[in-house]
Amino acid sequence: MKIKFTIALTFLFLFTGSFYAQENMLCMGRYWTEDEGNLMLKKFASEWNDLTTWETRAAQIKSGIIEGLQLDKMPKVEGNLNTIINNKREMDGYTVENIAIESFPGFYVTGNLYRPISDKSTFAGILSPHGHFPDKRFTHYIQKRAAVLARMGAIVFAYDMVGYGESKQVEHKMPIALLLQTYNSQRVLDYLLSRPDIDADRIGMTGGSGGGTQTFVLTAIDDRIKASAPVVQVSAHFFGGCVCESGMPIHKSKNHQTSNVEIAALCAPRPMLLVSDGADWTRNTPRVEYPYIQKVYALYDAEHKVENVHLPTEKHDYGYSKRTAAYNFFGHHLNLSMGNIPYAEGYQEDFVTILPAEELKVFTSKNPMPDTALNGNDAVMDYLKIQP
Ligand SMILES: [Zn+2]
Repeated sequence: MKIKFTIALTFLFLFTGSFYAQENMLCMGRYWTEDEGNLMLKKFASEWNDLTTWETRAAQIKSGIIEGLQLDKMPKVEGNLNTIINNKREMDGYTVENIAIESFPGFYVTGNLYRPISDKSTFAGILSPHGHFPDKRFTHYIQKRAAVLARMGAIVFAYDMVGYGESKQVEHKMPIALLLQTYNSQRVLDYLLSRPDIDADRIGMTGGSGGGTQTFVLTAIDDRIKASAPVVQVSAHFFGGCVCESGMPIHKSKNHQTSNVEIAALCAPRPMLLVSDGADWTRNTPRVEYPYIQKVYALYDAEHKVENVHLPTEKHDYGYSKRTAAYNFFGHHLNLSMGNIPYAEGYQEDFVTILPAEELKVFTSKNPMPDTALNGNDAVMDYLKIQP
């Protein structure tokens, strides 16, 4: 009896012990104060002093993300995108199509594809994730950003966060949302690179807020992204407030601690634009986050490839002035035709036709989601055999 009790107690200890360890590794929301975030960057800086020591640290941060996400447990699908495209519309200098790709068997990434109308045979590709706001893919500012970049010469894939827009197979605040969104982004990238009209050397990614998190996480672990613009999100003290940004242990393990500043710095020496503002957790960017990242770029003699546009009178959004900074950045680094956009004291976006949400959906009563689709958080997690 006593032995059984001891065994039970041992199991209980092991179970709660590992659960505690997992919880203890999460760095969520305002995990540090601004002062602590700044001091921790100084501590991180003391761990490297040249390219070799930085690359050792960078490799540890990168494997910390991959292990924290359990990304290696995802199915090895190799192509098999089973792309569904419908409802192509011709606009002023660009086209819009509704698209779904199968991320893994039974799970779909839903979005829109904005393409240039052009005689050229190859184009840049841009991944366009979004942040937290209901049906955000359908909002006028996501449509404008995608359409302008398309008219400049990029094929832009704007796609839903899980649980948003048409992506209703799981709830948004589910335990492995961070993994699913990162994997979905990787599959969107697979899709773009599978197209014969895409130039693999000119792949960009940009999103604001939670879309900024998606941008710097994928850029850190996948060097097929060649230019990256995370907007209003890279912070020394704030780790992202949602389970889809910090609900899995990508910042900390038994062997390391990092923050989103270093995760963003893994972009080096590829071009990166940080857009920050005066009203959120990016308010210190010109003084804290950006100088740290510049030092990393300097190791590669690539100071000119990282820039910060700081807008101290602005708020947490991906508004007009932030979009125009991104247009210039991608125009330069992805060799797009900025002259294709009407310009009068700034880029004019009013050639963009804002389409109603219903017209941007790939799955409709006429074209329903295949009935093999997984349905619900548990169905997806059981299929993948992954627990957070
Ligand atoms: Zn989220």
